[in-house]
Amino acid sequence: MTAEDFVRSAALVVVACHSLNIYLHYRQRRHLRRHDVLTSEAEAVMDKRRFRMTRLYALEKNKFLLMKVAFTLLRDLIVTTFPIYHFVWTNTRHLVEASELEDRFNFVHNCVFGSTIALGNSLFHFPLEIYSTLYIETKYGLNQETPDIFLKHQLTTLIRSQLLICAAVAGFSLVSGILGNNAFLFIWIFISVSSVLFILLYPNCIAPMFDDFTSLPEGSLREKIECLARKLRFPLSGVLIAEGTKRMTHGDVYLLGLSVNKSVVLDKDFYDAVKTSPTYQRRQRSRNDELSGYTEEQVLALLCHEFGHWKSHHNTTHLILSQFHLFIAFVTFVVFLEDKNLYRAFGFGNEQPLLIGILIVAGSLYHPIDEFLDKASVLIARRFEFQADSFAKRHNFGSELKKAVMIQERFTWKFPIEDWMFSCAYNTIPLPLERFRALGSTDDVKGTKPSIRDGS
Ligand SMILES: [Zn+2]
Repeated sequence: MTAEDFVRSAALVVVACHSLNIYLHYRQRRHLRRHDVLTSEAEAVMDKRRFRMTRLYALEKNKFLLMKVAFTLLRDLIVTTFPIYHFVWTNTRHLVEASELEDRFNFVHNCVFGSTIALGNSLFHFPLEIYSTLYIETKYGLNQETPDIFLKHQLTTLIRSQLLICAAVAGFSLVSGILGNNAFLFIWIFISVSSVLFILLYPNCIAPMFDDFTSLPEGSLREKIECLARKLRFPLSGVLIAEGTKRMTHGDVYLLGLSVNKSVVLDKDFYDAVKTSPTYQRRQRSRNDELSGYTEEQVLALLCHEFGHWKSHHNTTHLILSQFHLFIAFVTFVVFLEDKNLYRAFGFGNEQPLLIGILIVAGSLYHPIDEFLDKASVLIARRFEFQADSFAKRHNFGSELKKAVMIQERFTWKFPIEDWMFSCAYNTIPLPLERFRALGSTDDVKGTKPSIRDGS
C-alpha cells in the first residue's frame, strides 16, 4: 500500500465502522419512537408508569449515544486526515529535549506523548460526560453526585488513567527498547499467559482480596443447593456467602473455582433478599407491606442457569475465543507495523515510532476486525445465555427463573422492548422479554412486575 492508500483506507474504515454504530442507534431511536404504548407482552413485565419513564429515559440516552458516536467519528477522522500525531510527537520531543532529562529507550518522550494524547481525548469527551451525568442521569433521579463531587470524581479518574497510561507506556518502551521488533511477540505471549494465570489464581488468591467468604448456614436452602449439585454431578466443595465492598461488579449467584473443586457463591446483598434469610425476615417484620424477595426455588432456578453455563463449558469457550481475538490482533499489528508507508502517511518521514504505529493501526485499520470480533462475541454470549436458560427449563425451573429475573430487573431502567438488531449488537445478556419468549409465555410472571416505587 502507498502512503496515500493508507490514509484513504484508514478514513474509509473509520467512516464505515462508526456508520454501522450510528445506523444501529438510529434503528433503536426509530423503534423507541414507534413503541409509545404499553404492549400486551410488555404489560406482563412492567406497569404503565414505569414503561413511560423507561421509554423517555431510553430516548434521552439514545440521543446521547448518537452524539457520542458522531463525536468519536469526528475525532477519528481528524486524527486520520490531519497529521495530529506527528504534531504532538514532534512538540513533546522538543519539550523532553529542552528538559535535558536522560531518555533511555525513549522512555520519557513516549510517556509524555501518551499522556498528552490521553488528556486530549478526555477533554474532547468531557462535555459529553457533563451532559450524560449532570443532565440526563440527574433528570431521571439516577445521579447521586453534585457538580463539585462530579468534578472531583472526574479529576480522580483522569489522574488514575494518566498514571496507568504512563505505567503501560513505560513498560512498553522498556520491552521495545530491549527486544526491538520482537516486542510484539513478547507482549502477545505476556497478555495471553497473564489472562490464563489470572483465571487460575482468581479463586484462591484474587477473589479473597475483594471479598470475605463465609459458609452458608445449615438449613433448607443449603440442603436444596447441595441436592441440586448432586443431581447434576457438580463437583461442589462449598456453599459460600461473599461480602465485599471493594468490587466493581458482582453477580447475584455464581460459581467459583477450578474444574474439580468448585463452590457456589451467593452475593451477600442477594442472600439478604432471600425470603428465608435472617436479614430479610428482620426487615420484613419492621414493614407493613410485602417486601420483594426471592424464594428458595427462585435461588435454585438462578443457580441452575449457572450450572447450565458450567455443563456446556461456556467459560472455557469464552477463554479460547478471547485468546483467538488476541492472536488476530497480534497478526494484524505485525502485518501493518513493519510498513514504512504507514508512518509516511501520517507525516513521519523515515522515523517509525512503534507507539505511533500502534495508535494508528488500533484507531483505524484494526477497527473493522475489532468491531466484527466484538459483535460476534456479543452474539455468542447471548447464545450461551439462552442455552443456560434452556438448561434451567429442562430441569423444571423455567417458571421460577422468569420470576427471579423479574426481581433482578427491579433496579434497572432498561426499556423492555428494543430493536432486535440493536439488542443483538449490544446486549450480551438478552433482555428479560427476549429470554421469556425463548422460555415460553410471559403469563407466569404476571404479578411480579416491578413498579417505579420498587425500582427507585
Ligand atoms: Zn448467564
